Order: sequence, then structure tokens, then C-alpha cells
Amino acid sequence: MSAESTRGPRLVLLGKQGAGKGTQATRVAEHYGVDHMSTGDLFRDAAASETDAGLAAKVYMDRGDLVPDETVIGVVAQVLGEDDRIARGFVLDGFPRTRRQAEALHDLLDGYPLDLAIDLDVPTEIVLHRIAGRRVCTQCGTLYHIDSPPKENWTCDVCGGKVAQRDDDTEEAVMRRLELYEIETLPVIQFYRRTGALAHVDGGLESDEVFKKLVELVESRFDREIP
Ligand SMILES: [Zn+2]
Repeated sequence: MSAESTRGPRLVLLGKQGAGKGTQATRVAEHYGVDHMSTGDLFRDAAASETDAGLAAKVYMDRGDLVPDETVIGVVAQVLGEDDRIARGFVLDGFPRTRRQAEALHDLLDGYPLDLAIDLDVPTEIVLHRIAGRRVCTQCGTLYHIDSPPKENWTCDVCGGKVAQRDDDTEEAVMRRLELYEIETLPVIQFYRRTGALAHVDGGLESDEVFKKLVELVESRFDREIP
């Protein structure tokens, strides 16, 4: 059998913060035995291994700024080029975030087109509740939620530390990030609508249900295009 007929899917997962994108990307990648590439992880790895692109990215991340397109593209291009990833399949999470990045990915995949760009749709109210309701142990980092608090008075069940809301999890901060996401990502959605790769999955469902729908979607795409 050729590598092409045994390959895994080439996927992009799109979705706002709190849509459960990272969790689903991990599960889908495991399911198909391909690599899950989250730009957050890629940047941390690249910065740790001190590649030029990684060090450039680190400067922006340390300031809390968005990393510019060309730097992001450089890091992704390097990692996609390793281990035959483009031919074998992959799940990209956190990339592309801009039209320019989507076009660069399209060029990088020369001859191995993306199978699907899946938009994990979650209503803003749900995302707000998920993130703004989040509380974290200031000592060990264990996550809680206003719906599932620690047993005693916002004291960590694990280490006894103080459990509090992170500054960037306030409703106001989350709304600001969501607005920025919409503005940035709309052109990416439009790009994939035009190439025919765009699909939507309801990310407001239970996590297992979302995963099931994602796999069904990928299978239906493969049945149709790979006899
Ligand atoms: Zn703790």
C-alpha cells in the first residue's frame, strides 16, 4: 500500500479559547496516530531549543504580544517539514490564525492538501462561563470551576493553597480576547470556505459527543475522497 492510502488526516482545528480545541485536537490526533501540533507547545519547544525562529517568538511571548505571522510561519514550517509529517497527516491547533498564515500553510502543503479545517463552534455565553468561571490554585496550578469548587472555602484540595481567579480570566479580559479572535479569524474561515475545506462542529456539546462528531466528519471526508 502506498503511504498516501494509509495516511492519517491533515486537519486544522479552529475555535475560540474555551472551545475545547486543545483537548479535541489531542484526542483526534491519538485516534489517527498522527501528531498534534499546538502552536503554543511548538513555540515553547522552539524557544527551549533556541532555534532562531523560537528565540524570535520568545521575545513576543515574554511581552505577552502576539507573535508576528512570519515568525509563526517559520516555526510551523520547520516542524511540519520533520518526520514526514505532511505526508503522514497531522492535527494543527492554534494555526493558522490569520489569512496570511492560512495562505502560507496552503503553500507549505504543496501537493498534499488539507483535508479539513474544522471550526469548533461554541456560543460566546458558554465560553465565557467556562473561562470566567475558572479558578486556579495559586500554588500548584490545579484547576477548579465555580461549578466544581474545592471542598473547603477556595482552599486547594491537593495542596491547601489559595484558589483564585487569574487576572486574564476575568469576564472583561475574556471578552476582549474573543473579540480579537473574531476579527482575526474571520478571514481564515472565509479562506477555507473558498478552498472547500471548511466544516463546522458544535463544540457546545459534551466532550465525548464532540469527539464522536469530529471522527464522523473525518471519516465521511475520507470515504468520499480516498476509495
Ligand atoms: Zn494546590
